[in-house]
Amino acid sequence: MKPIPYGRQYISEEDIAAVTEALRHDYLTTGPTVGAFEEKFAEYIGSGYAVAVSNGTAALHLCALALGVNNDSHVITSPITFAATANCVKYCGGHIHFADINPENGLIDIDNVRQLLETCPKGFFSGIIPISLAGFPVNLEQIRQLADLYDLWIIEDACHAPGGWFTDSAGIRQNCGNGVYADLSIFSFHPVKHIASGEGGMITTNDFDLYERLKILRTHGITRDPKFLRENHGGWYYEMQWLGYNYRIPDILCALGISQLSRAETGMNRRHEIARRYTEAFSDIDAIQTPEIPQGIFHAYHLYVIRVDNRKELYDYLRSKKIFTQVHYIPIHTLPYYRSLEEEEISLPNAEHYYAHCLSIPMYPSLSDEQQEYVINTITQFFS
Ligand SMILES: *Cc1c(COP(=O)(O)O)cnc(C)c1O
Repeated sequence: MKPIPYGRQYISEEDIAAVTEALRHDYLTTGPTVGAFEEKFAEYIGSGYAVAVSNGTAALHLCALALGVNNDSHVITSPITFAATANCVKYCGGHIHFADINPENGLIDIDNVRQLLETCPKGFFSGIIPISLAGFPVNLEQIRQLADLYDLWIIEDACHAPGGWFTDSAGIRQNCGNGVYADLSIFSFHPVKHIASGEGGMITTNDFDLYERLKILRTHGITRDPKFLRENHGGWYYEMQWLGYNYRIPDILCALGISQLSRAETGMNRRHEIARRYTEAFSDIDAIQTPEIPQGIFHAYHLYVIRVDNRKELYDYLRSKKIFTQVHYIPIHTLPYYRSLEEEEISLPNAEHYYAHCLSIPMYPSLSDEQQEYVINTITQFFS
């Protein structure tokens, strides 16, 4: 039996053909495939605009830059996310504050955010970065209501949730990343995510001005667009108007992204099938807490997270049986770098409790029925 990871990419013959075809084009880096990927992704998500970038971390960094994060900025996020979610604020010199999580779903706790906002003078905080952990869509309508009271921008970290949606109070289905409630949303195309391009990322928004700024920041802060130029010396002329970066994604990778995107729905259906089987199989085992999905939520199942008391023992046992699970995540406020920024130790009991119990078990469309059965049987054995 081959080792079973918690997540992995699926590359089809069509994917390989798409990349081969892209290699025959005139452009290897920013050619027509970048724009095509952006257009198709925006259509899939239901956002007005999309900007493709070199990876999800670059996407977060560009969002922070575009929103003007600087030394005076104070931003709220969840401690249970990948470090990059918080790092983007640090890249721009800003300050990160962690709100505790809701123990039911592991997402940022709206009441805790409210408390944090109330303890500081109005205007102290400039933004919030919620994340749709594991693919459970964060209720951005609630976050928006609070954000409007305190004049905050929202960057939605939707890396786990392309294809997921929640239902707002008007009964309307709101796709993760559709730009209705968040100012900017970001995605990653790392191989363990829903859509793989190797390295890759995307920013979606409905804000045209932010969209234009992001495109300039993605390529050194340089523009050739006559409507932005202050002077014009001729055909070669460009202006660098902001301090930007090279966060471009090549055409080759966008070709893979487009090909993968065309299978997004099939992949999502398979993820739901796998989730149903896990939930059913573990329903009789009291020691395992499976995800609970409320009405009106469409979970994207980037991860299938179980919660158990003896997590380390289970992790080690599964590893000895060649099942490589993972823990998402070590709370960011406990990581040495973030600890070093604080004068006193921060305590976020819900996040710490979640970390002590969570385990992401194999979840990816190409996980075969036989492999899943082996995972289920091995976990069942451990508890019997
Ligand atoms: C993967 C991920 C990122 C970063 O994406 P990269 O493409 O690896 O840079 C950021 N946030 C979350 C929640 C992620 O899962």
